[in-house]
Amino acid sequence: MVRVRYVDADILIIGGGMAGSGAAWETRYWCRNCRIVLAEKANINRSGAVAMGLSAINTYMGLKCKENTVEDYVKYVRGDLMGIVREDLVYDYARHVDSTVHLFDEWGLPIWPEPKTGCYVREGKWQIMIHGESYKPIVAEAARKALGDENIFNRVMVTHLLKSPSNPNRVVGAVGFNVNDGTFYVFRAKAVILSAGGGSQIYRPRSQGEGLGRSWYPPWSSASSYGMLIEAGAVMTMMEARFVVPRFKDGYGPVGAYQLLLKTRISNAYGQDFWKPHVDEIRKLYSGKGNYVDLPITPTTLRVFAQRLEWLAGRGPSLMRTDETVKKGTESEAIAYEDFLDMTISQVVIWAGQNHEPADRPYEIITTEPYVMGSHATECGAWASGPEDLAPKKIEGLPDDRRYQYFWGYNRMTTLDGLFCAGDACGANPHKFSSGSFTEGRLAGKSAVLYVMDHSDEKVEVDRAQVDSLIAKIMEPLERYQKGRYNVVTGPSYMHPIDPTKMYWKQGLFRLQKIMDEYAGGWSTMYVTNEWMLNRALELLQFLKEDFMNYAAAQDWHELMRVWELWHRILTAEAVVRHMLFRKETRWPGYYVRADYPALDDENWHVFVNSRYDAKTGQWELWKVPVIHIIEFP
Ligand code: FAD
Repeated sequence: MVRVRYVDADILIIGGGMAGSGAAWETRYWCRNCRIVLAEKANINRSGAVAMGLSAINTYMGLKCKENTVEDYVKYVRGDLMGIVREDLVYDYARHVDSTVHLFDEWGLPIWPEPKTGCYVREGKWQIMIHGESYKPIVAEAARKALGDENIFNRVMVTHLLKSPSNPNRVVGAVGFNVNDGTFYVFRAKAVILSAGGGSQIYRPRSQGEGLGRSWYPPWSSASSYGMLIEAGAVMTMMEARFVVPRFKDGYGPVGAYQLLLKTRISNAYGQDFWKPHVDEIRKLYSGKGNYVDLPITPTTLRVFAQRLEWLAGRGPSLMRTDETVKKGTESEAIAYEDFLDMTISQVVIWAGQNHEPADRPYEIITTEPYVMGSHATECGAWASGPEDLAPKKIEGLPDDRRYQYFWGYNRMTTLDGLFCAGDACGANPHKFSSGSFTEGRLAGKSAVLYVMDHSDEKVEVDRAQVDSLIAKIMEPLERYQKGRYNVVTGPSYMHPIDPTKMYWKQGLFRLQKIMDEYAGGWSTMYVTNEWMLNRALELLQFLKEDFMNYAAAQDWHELMRVWELWHRILTAEAVVRHMLFRKETRWPGYYVRADYPALDDENWHVFVNSRYDAKTGQWELWKVPVIHIIEFP
């Protein structure tokens, strides 16, 4: 017997990470009388990608100190993504991001002050330094105060969005369950803000065996944003731009403070420069209309690519030359350690275990497994309306349809009415990082309040039959386990009991990771794929989906959460593969190479790739949308 609890609200926020916290704060600011609720899979005090803390805020313009202009920032972001970004969306969060950082400062986040100027200490052109171990609790406190603890539903994993029975394009809430006690939640809301973060562990991680579970983007980033958007039929964008980062080997320690603040270089194994031997070839293949190779800041993807070419030439691995910049007993050593202790403690633990001293020896840098994200140096996510003053209006020659246009009334509303996105969930506007994600949450929040006001007379309808069938579907893995628990044919293995009638979450996850790694440009193929491999991935993903439907089993509520995380990851993986198959060029060679189309092709592919999945028919549609530049190009 499932305990069901209905929660009625004006606005539902799904996911209380950086974007969700921003949405909470801003919605309350604009609507004192609204009931705003937030559902969070973990506990917002320490949830999301910032759970461990951070050592830098990566997006801060410094407008009050005249350090940068928003226009320059848009140019930088466009260049880093090799020409393809929604400049209206990037401009919009960039023009507001400083005010977010000033709020963090006011709330007590220790940002390194620059005593002489009254500005902040810069890590790089766009980044500032923080003592950020408690970044998330500080931000969460503001969200909690805004909403009231009684409106924050911690430990509730949201699995599906609810549609209006009379309008299949209208989202009216969501369902999920408490991962501790199994209570089933039905949230009914006039507007929903989806901010459930990005996707890790879709590709086989480099950390295996004793290191299993470690990854750069956290293992709890389960691609729920994308899974729910896709299944609800929202238009997705740029899902092919999955992301690979160079990080300290095995601990995934960040490189920013070393490279930008301490000015540490990366060399090949012989101390030589990794870029020069490859720049001519890279220029030939990837210069494009924007002359990307010779931009003032070389795009992340090209730097990653050059390091890989060095590796393939037998001169790997890449080494961070900490031995040249970190000096024992000085501030540089303190910074080096604090950087990891603030945000990736595992790296210090590994160094301690290996008797490694950064001042004495360089350390290996390696490229990670791919991640599906929308807030870092990449741009997977929902296709959303831009702000009215910046988004190009009615693009001539294209259908007057949200699938192609940039503006349909409410900033950050997805192509589904009443559903807004922010942070990793929102596509085509990368480089938001923590501060930009919080800012985008604020933008989506303000816009959602406007939507609620404009629709104040509308009654939220939820179809009982739809809810009942979702309860049955979501709980089915628990029942399946109970019914067939005597089918086990071998005792517990290191994964799960072997049982021909069941697929446990870890078995499904490993299968997904193997498919994606070996066919869709994971690290074991050195991020190379082609049409044949991608088609094979689709075929195997289809089998995996069928097995999920028929065999997914869970022994308890915790495993049930893992099962639905797996489902979100599978749907996301399929979108990624279909997008990679559609884009017949190699635009971000550091992230993946389509070996059958190894060069950048601006003539045909200077476009967004958008897609839509129809859950009823199981069919996908993909199409191109032109990139409109609002800042002079190049
Ligand atoms: P998150 O902050 O991850 O929030 C998503 C939330 O949704 C989480 O609380 C999660 O528990 C919840 N959730 C997920 N699924 C569900 C579900 N189904 N139901 C309910 N809740 C759900 N940024 C910087 O500015 N500077 C840095 O130096 C920096 N370094 C980074 C280093 C690392 C190791 C990582 C992982 C990230 C780093 N970032 C940095 C990036 C920054 O953390 C992200 O850009 C930002 O957190 C994204 O915000 P978000 O709200 O979209 O996702």
